[in-house]
Amino acid sequence: MNKSLKRLDLIFKNEHDADVILEKSLKRSNEELIEDLISSGLKGRGGAGFPTGLKWKLSAEATGKEKYVICNADEGEPGTFKDREILSSVPHKVMAGMAICARIIGSQKGYIYLRGEYKFLVPQLNKTIDEFHELLDKLNLDFRIEIFLGCGAYICGEETSLFESMEGHRGEPRNKPPFPTDAGYKGGPTVINNVETLAHTYSIFKYGPEKFKDLGVKDSRGSKVFSVSGDTPTPGIYELEFGMTLQKFVDDFGDGDAKAVQVGGAAGFCVPRKKFDKTVIGYKGKLTGVSLPTGGSMMIFNSSRSMYNVLHNYLDFFVEESCGQCTPCRVGTQQLLLGIEAVKRGDKSSLYLEQLLSLAETMRITAKCGLGQSVANSFSSIVENFREEMIY
Ligand code: SF4
Repeated sequence: MNKSLKRLDLIFKNEHDADVILEKSLKRSNEELIEDLISSGLKGRGGAGFPTGLKWKLSAEATGKEKYVICNADEGEPGTFKDREILSSVPHKVMAGMAICARIIGSQKGYIYLRGEYKFLVPQLNKTIDEFHELLDKLNLDFRIEIFLGCGAYICGEETSLFESMEGHRGEPRNKPPFPTDAGYKGGPTVINNVETLAHTYSIFKYGPEKFKDLGVKDSRGSKVFSVSGDTPTPGIYELEFGMTLQKFVDDFGDGDAKAVQVGGAAGFCVPRKKFDKTVIGYKGKLTGVSLPTGGSMMIFNSSRSMYNVLHNYLDFFVEESCGQCTPCRVGTQQLLLGIEAVKRGDKSSLYLEQLLSLAETMRITAKCGLGQSVANSFSSIVENFREEMIY
């Protein structure tokens, strides 16, 4: 097997110089720091891909209420487990990113919203937070970090549901605008970044934006941490450069019999073997064929797998995790699940799949948040590419 993809270690390199990086960064102006982030091309690694520098700039410019920095560690996407590892091995990098952000936007309070299933990380994280607070005191930075433990709802990874949950309400998405940079947690301007995004800011402030920008391709700069699972002899977490074809990825990580790769978890796209060569991994742009709607999950399926079962699993998950607030998602997810079961049993003809595809596209347009909108990604890509496996 030809291992051609270079493994990087920008994120996981065990560097214990948060004090040096913080001190150096805090001596620079807010404008210089934001300019570094913008010129690095860093985009959010949690899913939406919003430019990080712009997000920090918007919150810095927002006025009014108390401001907040929130690290989104509600890692609930099926097949995604890289944030757990980042928080386990290099939490100080994430906290340094939060502290620099706090200085820039003018915040005194930060939270790590930790997935409830990651409760086992709390003692170690609290120890790191205590040590980190001592460092902040030495540097005269008035900023404190606290852990907020989630309760296991996938929808709380969506930023506005996360705020609702922190405020003691049901985890349901809010209407946007206003966006969190203007009115987020408790109505205050809030920067909410994924764990990996914050860890990348540490590398950018340490090594400069050019080193980061030199990696990747246009529209998708830098490295990305991937969670690799499924039919692979080497499951695990890998930091790779953006811009690889899926063929190269499968050559490195597959078992020689890959028939499909689910890029981006249940909310992502299923790419069949015939498209591996033409699919470039990165954010949606001129050069890339598959955007990363979620945090970098790569699930490999070989020819022994039933893609009907795969889709059934995803739909089961979405039915369970839909918050039920809007009709297209609450009803649509159930109808898609019942629909593919009916076609598989032979109670409906294969033509019914066309109606289900149309329903999925309607959900993409009309559902209130990313959960309902992204159901069509996996549904359409699996049904269109593996139609024969859906039929009785
Ligand atoms: Fe809730 Fe689904 Fe509507 Fe999002 S799309 S608000 S998860 S019902």
